[in-house]
Order: sequence, then C-alpha cells, then structure tokens
Amino acid sequence: MIQVIKNGTVVTMDEKRQKKYEKLDIVIKDDTIDKITDSYTGTYDKLIDASGKIVLPGLINCHTHLGMSIFRATNDDYPLQDWLTKKIWPIEDHMTDEDIYYTTLLSCLEMIKTGTTTSNDMYFGVNGSLKAIEEAKVRSVFSRCLMGNMDSDSLERIEEFKKLVNENQGKELLTFTVTPHSMYTCNEEYLMECEKVATELHLPIHIHYSENEKEVEGIRNDYKTSPAKALEKVGYLNHKLILAHGTFISEEDQKLLASHDVSIATNPISNLNLGCGIADLVQYKKNGLNICLGTDGQGSGNTLNMFYHMSVVDQLQKAKYQDPTVFNSYEVLKMATIYGARALGLEDKIGSIEEGKKADIIILDLHNTEVYPTVDLINQIVHNVESSNIDTTIVNGCVLMENHQLTLPIDEEKLKKDINSIIYRLMPKEN
Ligand SMILES: [Zn+2]
Repeated sequence: MIQVIKNGTVVTMDEKRQKKYEKLDIVIKDDTIDKITDSYTGTYDKLIDASGKIVLPGLINCHTHLGMSIFRATNDDYPLQDWLTKKIWPIEDHMTDEDIYYTTLLSCLEMIKTGTTTSNDMYFGVNGSLKAIEEAKVRSVFSRCLMGNMDSDSLERIEEFKKLVNENQGKELLTFTVTPHSMYTCNEEYLMECEKVATELHLPIHIHYSENEKEVEGIRNDYKTSPAKALEKVGYLNHKLILAHGTFISEEDQKLLASHDVSIATNPISNLNLGCGIADLVQYKKNGLNICLGTDGQGSGNTLNMFYHMSVVDQLQKAKYQDPTVFNSYEVLKMATIYGARALGLEDKIGSIEEGKKADIIILDLHNTEVYPTVDLINQIVHNVESSNIDTTIVNGCVLMENHQLTLPIDEEKLKKDINSIIYRLMPKEN
C-alpha cells in the first residue's frame, strides 16, 4: 500500500540535511518511508494532505510506566521514598492484570493523541499491558519490572520476563530491555542476576538511577564507591544502558558513563514534582553523554504529552545556569526523537524522517493563535504546541489518528469510566 503525505513542512531531524525544515512530500510504502521528494507525482492508495501543517518524526518517550495512569494527580506533595512506599506500592500490590490492561490502554491513547509513537516502558502485570499496547498499535520497548534480593518471588519475576521475551520474538512493534527497578530495590546479587539475563538475551538494561541525593548517598554507603562505579561493579557498563533520571551524577562519574554505551533519560517534571532536583544536562552533554527525554509515570510526571516535557526541560536548564544560551529548542527536539532512538538502539528504524526508516510520523496543525507568528517554527513546536495541535499520528505506516479522530476501535468514554472505578476501588478508604 502506498500512502503519500503531501505538501507538509517537514522537520526531518535528519542530521544529514542542511535545513531544519522544508516543504517535502513523503511516500510511505507499507510500513516504511520509501521516498522523500520535493514533489511526488506518482500513484498512491491514500493521500494525506498536510498543506499548512507540520510533519515530524513520532516522539520517543524514553522512560515511563504506562500502567500508572490511575495515579495521575492522586498523591502529590510526598517525597520520593514516602510516595513509593506509602502511596504507590500498597495500591500496586492489589492491581490485577485486567486493571493494568485498562490503565495501559489509557496511556496508549494519551500517547497517540499527543504525538508519541514509541515508549520505553517499565512495569508489571505484563499480560494486561501487552494486550493494551498491541491493541493500540504503538511501538514499545517493553519489559517486566524486576526487584528483590534473590528471594523466590524476585527470581520468579526473572523467569516471567524470560518467558515474555521468548513468546514475543520477532514482533515488529516490540523490543525488550531488562529492567531492574533500581539499585535501592535490588540487592547486588540480584542486580548481577539481571545482568546475566541481559547477556543471555542480548538486551539493553533500563534502570532508575541517581534520582535524588538520598539515593546517591545510599548507594555510596552500600557499595563503598560512586554510583557509576557500582554500576561497573555489577557489570552494567558492558551493556547498552538507559539510566532513568540521573539527576545527580558527579563529573568523574559522567566521564566514566560517557566512555560506555550509556544514555540518560531525564524526567524533568517528575523530578520537580517529587522535589528531586534538576539534572545538570548542560554538563552531561559537555562530557559526551547521550541525553533523551522521558515523562515517568503520570503519578509523578502528570502527563505523557512530551511537548510539555520538552518545554520544561529547556527552560529548567536556562534557569539553572541563569543563561538562556546554554540550551536550545532544536537540541530538545533531538532528545525527544533521534537521541531517544539512539538510546533505545532503534536509530536505524525510527527517530527521524529518512528513506528506509519505519513510518512513525506525526502531523501538527498549528491553526490556533497561540502558535503565531510562525517565524521560528522549532521554538513554537517545543514551547507552544498543545495536544489540540496533534492532527495525525502514524506508527509503522498505520494511521492511528487522522484529523484529530482516533481510528482505533476503542470506546474512550467507557475506558475513562473504567479508569475511575479502578482507582476508587483501590484507594484506601478515608475514615
Ligand atoms: Zn520511573
């Protein structure tokens, strides 16, 4: 099937192109970008008229927990450790696979409506979440969250993960990472057990890391060395590694991490909400680290709308340095696209609009007054685009939303009711 996106202003994020954006036609053959040309005059099965619209690669959310949508705006004003142990985990203990199907499905719709086509997910209840992800037809770097201290439950989680990978090999929209939750929820031996799985299955590792200063202090106490050297000790630097947060990384550790295949998935809004701090991304970049962007779960990150997170991450760095020249919108857009693809090992498939890559594409309709004037398009995209501007979302050549209308057979109104009933059922009752 040939689909053509015609007359759009295309922000390719292809570093080989001279211009940041230009008028181009994109020809999609089945799931792949077949041709990018000034003007396509050939035949097609479907035409998508993008006149007056902006065409971008689908955004890539490099750290999230799709099953956490029920926690949105439920437990604000708690520090990280209290929030997890007193507010989140007691509820998660009672979530069924069916609950997680619904909570993940809501997140998938949120992604499609806000222009994210790939997520790097870490959660449990994988039967439910996988069903939702497959129904929503989004691209997923999937996992089974692992935590424990070599007790039978924790080892069972590893077996569950291996089975998951085994049963879902070769699916185009699905790849996997090994996801030990963090160095404070896994003991050293268990972290090393997870490392063995990454070696055995040739998979990247994705872990929460140095989210706040308390965590850094704990790792220093437990391992008698710095967090990056602790990662080295458990063998993680021998793998492709995605570190979620990395809010506090010393200069020496930055250099050690940058000398390996390590990416930092920064989650600025989650870090603000939980009072964790502001990562020094300017310094990380100077030291050569690949930085990508995540939303975290909605419980701390509020929204999966990456446009919102892009705007905040840019402004935070400028405020931190009291210098607006240290960061810029184009760099932020790279974090949400091509750098994200690099972090996930998917750079040859997604992250930019290039011939031969998969057709993960979004179209923005900048019709509203808030995005005028359109003098600096990249600045407008990063700072002023809202979900109402997302017109069309395409994953792997499949149009999931067109002219703001979802094409998926999902009953959104029923889903919203289901989500409310899950959180009301699980929340502790007030006396
Ligand atoms: Zn997280």
